[in-house]
Amino acid sequence: MSTGWVWHERCMWHDPGSAGGPLPAGGWIEPGTHVENVETKRRMRNLVEVSGLLAQLVAVAPRPATVDEVCRVHDRGYVERIEQMSASGGGDAGNMTPFGPGSYEIALLAAGGAITATDAVLDGEVDNCYALVRPPGHHAMRDSGCGFCIFNNVAIAAAHAREARGLERVAIVDWDVHHGNGLQDAFYEDPSVLTISLHQDGNFPPNSGPVDENGAGAGAGAHINVPLPAGSGDGAYQAAIERVVVPALDRHRPQLVIVASGYDASGMDPLAQMMLHSDSYRAMTRKVMDAAGESCEGRVVVCHEGGYSPFIVPFCGLALIETLAGVRTEVQDPYMPIIAGMPGHELLDHQEQAVARAERLVPTVPAAPQGTTATTG
Ligand code: ZN
Repeated sequence: MSTGWVWHERCMWHDPGSAGGPLPAGGWIEPGTHVENVETKRRMRNLVEVSGLLAQLVAVAPRPATVDEVCRVHDRGYVERIEQMSASGGGDAGNMTPFGPGSYEIALLAAGGAITATDAVLDGEVDNCYALVRPPGHHAMRDSGCGFCIFNNVAIAAAHAREARGLERVAIVDWDVHHGNGLQDAFYEDPSVLTISLHQDGNFPPNSGPVDENGAGAGAGAHINVPLPAGSGDGAYQAAIERVVVPALDRHRPQLVIVASGYDASGMDPLAQMMLHSDSYRAMTRKVMDAAGESCEGRVVVCHEGGYSPFIVPFCGLALIETLAGVRTEVQDPYMPIIAGMPGHELLDHQEQAVARAERLVPTVPAAPQGTTATTG
C-alpha cells in the first residue's frame, strides 16, 4: 500500500488562546491551556517520525481551500466574518470556537489539506491518505463555528469529491467521540453522501445526535447516528462498526470513504468517558478499509478531528496510520495494556441495545444502483 501524509507546520500555529480545558478562562476558571492545543498533534507527528513510519509515507503538500470550495458547505457571510475577525486579532467563530490572529488562513489550509488528500487518492497518487490538519472540522455548521471547529474540513472534502470530481456516492464515517453535527447538517437531505456518526450519547453538543435523526427528504436514510452509552469500550465500538458501519457501506457502495477520526474515545481522554485503546483504532480502521476494498478499491481518506490526551493520541494515531500503510513498526503502545486491562470492554447489554437500534436503520440506507462499480467520475 502507498499511504499519503498531509501535514503543514502552519496548521500547528492555530491558537485557541488561554482557557481552562474546553472553556474560556475567566470568572473562577484560571487562565491556562486550551484543550485543543498543538501538543496532541505535534506529539503524534513526532511518534510517526521516530517510529520510522513517516519515511515510508508519501508526503502530500496541502494547498489552501478556495473561498468557493469552502462555500459549498458554508455561507459566504460566515466565511467573510471569520476573515475579518482573524485579520483584527481573532475572536470566536461561535459555540466554543475561539481563535487567534491568522486562523482564517490556517482554517483554509486545514480544509484544503482534506481536499488535497482526497485528490491524491482519487488521482491514484496514493492508495489512501491521512491528513493531520487543525483546526478540526466536524462540528462546524453552515453559518457558525462549533466545538473548536471553524470550517468543516471533511464536509468540504466530500463536497469537492461530489461536485468537482463527479463522484456519485461518498461515505463519511465519523468516530470522533462527539456527535458529528456539522457533517449531519451538511448532508442531511443529500442521498449521495452517507454520513455515519459514532459518538458518546449526549456528550457534545448537548442533546445532539439521537438515533432517530436519520436524514430527511431525498436524504432519508442516508444519515445514521450511533449514540453509545458512556463507558463503552472496544466491544461496543467493534460491534457498531461490524453491525452498522460495514453493512451500511456495503449497501451504499461509496466511491470514496472519508473517516473523520477523533481519538477522544480513548480510555484516557479528558473530554469524554469511553474506553478505546490503540488496538481498537487499529481494528476499526481495518474493518472500514476492508469494506472500502469491496466498494471502491480501498479509497480511504482519514482526516484528523478531536482527541485531547497528549500521551494517548500519538499511539492511537500511529496504530491507525500503520494499518492504512500495512506496516507494523517496532513501537509498542505502553498504554494499551493498561486500558485494555480495565473491566467492561465486552459488549454489555445496554450497549448492545444501542447498537441494535442503529442496526435497524441500515436497510433504509440509499442503495447503489445494481451493477454499480467504483469509478472516479
Ligand atoms: Zn471530539
